[in-house]
Amino acid sequence: MKKKDIKVGQIVAWIDPASESSGMFTVIKKYAEHVLLKNSASEIEAPYHELQFLEDTYCCPSCGNIDIEEQGWFYVNSPNTAINDMVEESPIWCSMCDFTLSSSTNCDEFLKIKMQ
Ligand SMILES: [Zn+2]
Repeated sequence: MKKKDIKVGQIVAWIDPASESSGMFTVIKKYAEHVLLKNSASEIEAPYHELQFLEDTYCCPSCGNIDIEEQGWFYVNSPNTAINDMVEESPIWCSMCDFTLSSSTNCDEFLKIKMQ
């Protein structure tokens, strides 16, 4: 996400490079290289390139967790364990809810349904 696309007060998705505390956050303040983000659980600083639009971010339809996982294939003998291909029709796993989902939704849809 680019700096010009972000407004103070806007809700964005932050993708934690460590895949531990990704989530939906409100932009509190903009700086030259990063933003200050806040949600009910924490306050963090993140660079612009780690932010995503809500419409472009998948989440768990039940709890809104964005660290959801899908199964993938990788070469067992390669030192690089990067995913080579996805498992077709695989379920999606939410570690927060501790169950598998048949489908994910995006963060924008999730918030709209939640606010109804
Ligand atoms: Zn969940």
